Amino acid sequence: MPLTALFVGRLWCALCPAGALGDWVQGVFSGARAMAPAWMQRLGAWSALAGVVATGLAFLALGLETNGALTALLLVLVTVGAVALALPFRGRVWCRWFCPLGLMLGLYSRVGWLEISPGSAGTRASAGAARACPQFTSPVSHQRRHDCILCGQCLKQGGEAVRLSFDPAPGRASRPPSLTLIQALGVNLLLGLLMVDSLRMTPPFLDYMTLALSYLSSYRLALTLGGLALLGLVLGAQAGVARVAARLGDRGRLFRQLSLALVPLALALHLALSAQHLVAGGPGVLQGIGVEIGFLASGHMPPADAYSTIVPLKSFQLLLLALGVAGVAYQSSRSKLALGGRTRMMVLGAPGLMQGLIFLQPMSAAC
Ligand code: SF4
Repeated sequence: MPLTALFVGRLWCALCPAGALGDWVQGVFSGARAMAPAWMQRLGAWSALAGVVATGLAFLALGLETNGALTALLLVLVTVGAVALALPFRGRVWCRWFCPLGLMLGLYSRVGWLEISPGSAGTRASAGAARACPQFTSPVSHQRRHDCILCGQCLKQGGEAVRLSFDPAPGRASRPPSLTLIQALGVNLLLGLLMVDSLRMTPPFLDYMTLALSYLSSYRLALTLGGLALLGLVLGAQAGVARVAARLGDRGRLFRQLSLALVPLALALHLALSAQHLVAGGPGVLQGIGVEIGFLASGHMPPADAYSTIVPLKSFQLLLLALGVAGVAYQSSRSKLALGGRTRMMVLGAPGLMQGLIFLQPMSAAC
C-alpha cells in the first residue's frame, strides 16, 4: 500500500471495498444528503489519528498481521464506519476524515507522482469541475494531495478544466503543500511507530525486553510501554525543536513544516521495513498459521541467534533510506523553514541518521 502511494497517491482509496460499499449504499438509498457538520469533521480527524496509533500498536504488540480475528475486526470496523456515515451524509465522509489508512496514505501521497491538476481553463473552471467530488476537495485545493483519491469524477466533467499529471518531483509547479496540526502529529507518530518496528528486529530489543520483563510480567505490556516511550520521544523532540526555534517564527507553523519535510523519510522507512518483513519474515506465514490454530502466541521474543545481515536486503534498505533523506532535503528546501542551514541539517538529519544506525545492525524477522 505505501508503495502505491509513491506512484499513484491515494488511488487505493478509490478502489477500497469499504468506500465502494458506501457509494453503493448511497446509490440504493438515493435522496438529498447533508454535509457532515464541522464538529464531526474534527472528531473524524482526531479519530483517524488515534486509529493510526491503535493500528500500529496492534501490529506491534498483538501481531495484527498474523491474527485473523483482529484483522477481521479491523475490516469490519472500517466497513461499518464507511457505510454508517454514507447513509446520512453525502460524499465519502469516512474516507475523507475518519479512516486511519486514508490518513496514512494521504500523508504519503504528498510525495506521490500522480495527481489531479488544474487545467488550462482557469482556476474557477477547475474548482467547478469538482463540484461532485466525494472527498470535498478540488484540483485547486491546497490539500488536494492529501484528500484526493483520484476517483476521476472531476475528470469526467471533460474540457480543459482538469488534467491528470505525472511528476516525479511532485508539486514543483504549485505552492509548497502544508500540513494541518493533526497531519503533522500523524507524520511523527508514524515515524515513531516505524522506528519501534525496526528497533524490535535488532539486538537492543532483546536487551530491553530482558530488562523490562524482569519488572513486568507481560510481553505485550513491555512492548507497548517501550513503543509508547519511543513515540513520546519522537514527538517530544519535534515539539522541543519547534519550541526552541519559536523565536524565529510561529512555533506551530515550524512544527508542521518540519513534519512535512519528514514525510519522505517515513515513506522510505515504511518501504524498507516492508522489505524486511517480506524477505526475512517469509517463514512468518507459517507462524501466522500456527497462531491461527492456537499453537503459537502472537508476538514473540526472538532467540539470541535470530539476527542476521542479508547483504542485498541491507543495501536495498540503506538505498531507500538515502532516497528518503534526499526527499527530506528536497521538501525542506521548498518549505522556506525558519531554520538556518546547519540547524536545519541537524534537526532533519537526526532521524535519518538514527535510522541508518538501526539498519546497520543485524536484524531478525521478529514480525
Ligand atoms: S473528484 Fe477529482 S479532486 Fe475529487 S477526489 Fe476525485 S479525482 Fe480527486
